[in-house]
Amino acid sequence: MKLWLLIPIVVLAIGLKLKTMSFYDYTTGLTNCTNDYSCLHESAHRLDDSLGTISHSREFADAVRLYVLANQDELTFKIVMFDGLMNYSEQYESGSERFSSPIQELYAEMYVWFNGDISKMPVDFQKFYKED
Ligand SMILES: [Zn+2]
Repeated sequence: MKLWLLIPIVVLAIGLKLKTMSFYDYTTGLTNCTNDYSCLHESAHRLDDSLGTISHSREFADAVRLYVLANQDELTFKIVMFDGLMNYSEQYESGSERFSSPIQELYAEMYVWFNGDISKMPVDFQKFYKED
């Protein structure tokens, strides 16, 4: 079998893989998403990247901690129960999220929880999602 015959098969295989995978590549800035949820999630990673990975800043971690200490609402519950943040998650051991960190994922998920509408977020978090 001629080797060049493999090229379309490899291209097709990569294409099929991309159809089922969602990601934001911090190196290339390439985003791939497959549905409304994943597109919103990955766009939050892009936003985070454009803001210098603000999710890894001490300020963001402090805002999360202070929010959890000062509030007992649905958002507090979601943060506390977030995979890999306070409770054990298999996702961060073997899943695709091993390429990321729990705080980075929380940043992206928080954006999804408010449907990308920063004005609906608690004021303490809004500044971490503003590009200006
Ligand atoms: Zn993610």
